Order: sequence, then structure tokens, then C-alpha cells
Amino acid sequence: MSKISFIGLGNMGAPMALNLAKAGHALAVHDLVPASVARLAEAGARAAASAYDAVAGADIVITMLPASRHVEGLYLGDDLLSHIDTSALVIECSTIAPETARKVATAAQARGIAMLDAPVSGGTAGAAAGTLTFIVGGEADSLSRARPVLEQMGKNIFHAGPAGAGQVAKICNNMLLGVLMAGTAEALALGVANGLDPKVLSDIVAKSSGRNWATELYNPWPGVMDHAPASKGYAGGFGSDLMLKDLGLAAEAAQATRSAIPLGALARNLYAMHGAAGHGGLDFSSILKLYKPD
Ligand code: NAD
Repeated sequence: MSKISFIGLGNMGAPMALNLAKAGHALAVHDLVPASVARLAEAGARAAASAYDAVAGADIVITMLPASRHVEGLYLGDDLLSHIDTSALVIECSTIAPETARKVATAAQARGIAMLDAPVSGGTAGAAAGTLTFIVGGEADSLSRARPVLEQMGKNIFHAGPAGAGQVAKICNNMLLGVLMAGTAEALALGVANGLDPKVLSDIVAKSSGRNWATELYNPWPGVMDHAPASKGYAGGFGSDLMLKDLGLAAEAAQATRSAIPLGALARNLYAMHGAAGHGGLDFSSILKLYKPD
């Protein structure tokens, strides 16, 4: 069993950390929200007083933070790296800019610390069930060290390439997800406006060529899937503002390589409009509101 430090106990981090606590690791946790730390402490984790306290003596440091600025701010701005043992392995799971992942990994390497970018896919349900997909960038040796711990939180582990490659793959995946969710909402709203029952239409699409992750597991129409955020007032899940961030990362990656992403850019604009309408804190499937105002 390892001494693991887990920082960032939000919608994803909390269930991931819980799975590590259940697996019997000595877990030290930290978040800016004390209630989130208290919930993990009830499950047996040590409530660290600060991020510095959390990483003291850890074999493995895991972070699950919102965006690039939080990751760079913590590791470089607050100089968390200088508090981490050089023998430790850092696994950074947030979805952030590949450039930021490379910058922090290079700073870690300069201190002799191994670091992986390991963003995840699978949503909060996958985090709770321990079935996440990890998309990893960094040295193969470091991934071998990380694998036993990643396997306690996920089912599929891919090595995308060197540092930053995990983020590139994750950004491509999420751009596709943003496009598919907006398209699914649009198709359902069109069907309902033309007299169809949303559940009947969803069942048809789920067994037809328009089938996708949203129609299988994460339907955006309230009441179609009991477990989906759409049926819980779009609470929890994957925030619309986080999707907007990921589509912005895709736009940056496209700009850097002069790639055309017309559908990704359109999806980014839809999520920007949705956020401007005050829905940025709702799950990203709430993009349906653009097509079906309350
Ligand atoms: P979240 O906003 O629910 O959680 C982030 C947590 O980080 C919050 O609890 C916040 O208090 C904490 N935090 C921020 N700065 C901190 C700091 N300096 N020190 C300690 N704690 C700090 O976000 P989430 O939904 O858990 O997503 C986390 C990351 O995972 C994001 O990059 C997101 O894009 C990605 N992601 C999310 C999902 C999803 O379905 N929610 C799926 C895949 C990937």
C-alpha cells in the first residue's frame, strides 16, 4: 500500500479518492472546500491542513483541479513541487492545456520528480464505479509505477505519448463530446417539437446510426434517464463552464497547428452563449436549454 496525497476533491476527485481509501492506501487529502475534506476524512483519509501538509512524505501525489491556472498556480506559483519528495511520482489528472502540462512536468523533472499528465474520461459515474479511462502522457517507466494505483480508479489506461500527449488526446475527445452533446440536444428538441415523445425518440436513436455516448448513458432530456444529471436539475456531473474550458483548449491547439475545427468552434460558441445565459454551473447536458427554454 502506498502513501498517497490527493488534492482537489470536487465532482471527480472525491469519488476517485474514495476508491483509493477503500483500497486501503494511507491517504492524505486536501481541498479549498473544508466540507469536501471532511467527507473524505469520514472515509478514513487524513485531513491535511494544507497542500504542503498533504504531500509531505507521499509516494504518490494526485491532483484533480479545474483548469490550467489552478495546476500551474499550485505546483509552480505556490511552489508545491519543492515540498514533494524526489522519490515521489506525481499524477496530474485535471484536463488542462498540453503546454501547461509540459511546463509543470519539466519543472518537476528539474527537481528529479517524475510526473505524468493523466486526464480522465468517464464522468462522475465512472469515477464512482472505478471505471474511468486514463489518458496518459509521460515516460513509460513512470506509467508502469502509476498503473497499480490507476487501476484502482479506472478500467482502461492508455499511453498517449510523451508529456502533454495525454492532454492532447483528452482535448480531442472532449471536443467531439461537446459537438455530440449539442447535436443530441438539437435532434431531441426537433423531434419533440414535431410531436415525438423524448423517451421514444431516444430509444430509437440509441439503436440507430445517431447513437452516441449521450444517448447511451447521459441523455440531456429530463426524465429520459433517471441517473443522468438532466433528471436531477442538471446538478453535479460535468459543468458547462468546464466544457467551455475544454473547447477553448481545443481552439488553442487548433490555432497552434493551423487546424480547422469548424464544429468545435461552433460548439464552443454554443457553450459560451449558454454560460452567458447563467447556466455555466449546470452539467454540460443542460445545453438542451438553448433549444428548449424552460
Ligand atoms: P470541480 O470543480 O467539481 O472540482 C475541482 C476541485 O478542486 C474543487 O473542489 C475545488 O475546491 C478544488 N480546488 C481548486 N483549486 C484548488 C487548490 N489550489 N487546492 C486544493 N483544491 C483546489 O471539477 P471536477 O468536475 O471534479 O473536474 C476536475 C477536472 O476533471 C477538470 O479539469 C475537468 O475538466 C476534468 N473532468 C471532469 C469530468 C466530470 O464529469 N466532472 C470528467 C472528466 C474530466
